[in-house]
Amino acid sequence: MANDQTTSQDSAMDQPSRTDQLVFQDPVSRYPVIEPPEQQQSEPGLDADMYPHADIGEHSYRGTGRLTDRKALVTGGDSGIGAAVAVAFAREGADVAISYLPAEEEDAQRVISIIESCGRKAVALPGDLTDDAYTGEVAQQAAAALGGLDILVNNAGKQVAVESIEELSDEQVEETFKVNIQAMFRITRQAVKLMPAGSTIINTTSIQAYNPSPTLVDYASTKAAINTFTKGLAQQLAPRGIRVNAVAPGPIWTPLQPSHGQPIEALPDFGKQTPLGRAGQPTELAPAYVFLASSESSYVLGETLNVNGGTPSP
Ligand code: NAD
Ligand code: MG
Repeated sequence: MANDQTTSQDSAMDQPSRTDQLVFQDPVSRYPVIEPPEQQQSEPGLDADMYPHADIGEHSYRGTGRLTDRKALVTGGDSGIGAAVAVAFAREGADVAISYLPAEEEDAQRVISIIESCGRKAVALPGDLTDDAYTGEVAQQAAAALGGLDILVNNAGKQVAVESIEELSDEQVEETFKVNIQAMFRITRQAVKLMPAGSTIINTTSIQAYNPSPTLVDYASTKAAINTFTKGLAQQLAPRGIRVNAVAPGPIWTPLQPSHGQPIEALPDFGKQTPLGRAGQPTELAPAYVFLASSESSYVLGETLNVNGGTPSP
């Protein structure tokens, strides 16, 4: 797969950054316009096998103590946006447990070692979010291993593009709803039993919630549900001092995309239609999650923070 183009795209992403997210810089050129060659991985896809590689902040996220001694569970924390969030949380001083599928162990171990290199505790919790036994116990497992739980990031997601509703199987619709939204209900139900006042919950939704692609009707429907879940639950948990918010990414270069998340021929132009003219990198999402997780956002509840390269959103 390697050719001149991917090699230069890769090196732009892999080299220790001269800058980090706190340096004054042009958002248009902070990252190169990537042109991912047509590629396909089987679901769930690995960060390790992406061309070009994605930036999860290993060399580009600088912490400033905003989550000191917090204890977080991040679902889908092995790769993409969840990995970038896990890395940023550790850089900000938090201990972090990550949930992911057993097939993603290679990506997960990379994130675990980055968290540990920050001097923080890292906990690996492999399992399948379609398994009720796992979603019923993963929050408790995280709390037991971390010595408590005060941040939950419901971030795992399944996205498989299908051209026609006639080809969209019941099985895919059910699995997408189970991973993207039902697991969120089940994990959150357990987590809030463990969370003290001051805790924060952040759900990953999507621009697809209000701007759905014709090939993603099942996925987009779950994201609209996540927005509504977030706004309702935020009101319910506010009196308990637990804040609930959401982040809505636009096109971000993660393993979700080349593992059937997009029609394969759409990959070379991925993200170019945004006002910034390029796809986002996972680490560009991390500051939104850090803000919503930390006490500095104490009066922000039921909000959806759009991080999408400039596409207008409601
Ligand atoms: P990703 O593939 O890196 O992360 C998704 C993760 O979900 C996987 O790593 C996997 O661990 C987890 N997952 C999927 N099915 C699972 C299952 N059955 N059991 C347990 N875990 C499972 O891709 P990403 O783009 O970083 O996705 C993170 C979130 O961001 C998702 O909710 C996705 O819908 C959302 N999102 C992504 C984009 C984008 O352009 N990449 C845009 C909007 C929203
Ligand atoms: Mg993954």
